[in-house]
Amino acid sequence: MAGAIGLSGVGMRGKRELVSDLSAATGLTWLLEHTPRRPVLMILNYHRIGDPNATEYDPGLFSCTAGEFDWQIAYLKRRYRMTTLDEVLGLLSGEGLLTEPRVLITFDDGYIDNYQLAYPVLRRHGVQGVFFLPTGFVGTPRVPWWDEIAYMVKRSRRTRFHLDYPQPQDFDLDVGGIATSIRNILRLYKQPAMRDATRFVEQLERACDSARPGNDAQRCFLDWNEAREMQQGGMAFGSHTHNHEILSKLPVQGQLEELRVSRETLQKELGRNIDTLAYPVGARDTFSEETVSALRQAKYRAAFSFYGGFNAAGSIAPFDVRRCGVDQQSRKRLRLQTAIGSHAGNMWF
Ligand SMILES: [Zn+2]
Repeated sequence: MAGAIGLSGVGMRGKRELVSDLSAATGLTWLLEHTPRRPVLMILNYHRIGDPNATEYDPGLFSCTAGEFDWQIAYLKRRYRMTTLDEVLGLLSGEGLLTEPRVLITFDDGYIDNYQLAYPVLRRHGVQGVFFLPTGFVGTPRVPWWDEIAYMVKRSRRTRFHLDYPQPQDFDLDVGGIATSIRNILRLYKQPAMRDATRFVEQLERACDSARPGNDAQRCFLDWNEAREMQQGGMAFGSHTHNHEILSKLPVQGQLEELRVSRETLQKELGRNIDTLAYPVGARDTFSEETVSALRQAKYRAAFSFYGGFNAAGSIAPFDVRRCGVDQQSRKRLRLQTAIGSHAGNMWF
């Protein structure tokens, strides 16, 4: 975890960690933790749990290790009231009242480690996690494009290579390091000029002289039996669309289709009403007013974004419920983040 950080070359992330160290050392974090707090709904979002160095896929998706997750849940439970999806829906419909800080734990994408590593921790602590599943991925051997790219780069037979599309760029794995190179290649893929995914992946395959994941590759996603077992154990589920498409990029009909198919699939497989969605990617520009009316039409009651911020009592927008990501921050920083959030109501540090 990011604990000891040198002074040179620290980015925004490093600066936040330094401030967190300072705040803990001076007792400010402790003071914030022990003074009266505001009613605020703090929703944390995770993707993968485990060791980012041990995966053959994208290490950037790992929120924390299983040990850290256990510490985080124990800490949050000690300091805050942990809440459930039903309670949040109650707050949104005005049935419940927010009188103190509450914390909701959520996961996006439905990776297999959510079942193998996160679920046992949550069950042991008696805390509900809400898992947003892209239904087209559940129970399939599918490897998403970001993991496919990471897989090929990690198995590259060349340390230096060149990509032409969507724009020329050179890569040197020895100089840049594997993790940074993967991040830069993913960034290239996400550029608006990149319109032909097959062309992009094929050129990377040639450039690295490595193959895409085959049938013997590790399974990425949990299956329906595992989801049902988690539901039995108190976990809750929502939609993350069917194909993990950015909704605002689709025509209205396409958005409606993604919302309907995923909701119907989840309801059929889990035998429960599905009322909520987490927007894929979740930035402000990934959903629009059109998306919100499509959500209403498809009978969703709430949707969760992912660009930061907490939800202060009385100002929670049902189709833009704010969430903050857990991204390998230190314990000190998580303590400070939630302590500030529970005072300021809508601030993420
Ligand atoms: Zn996602």
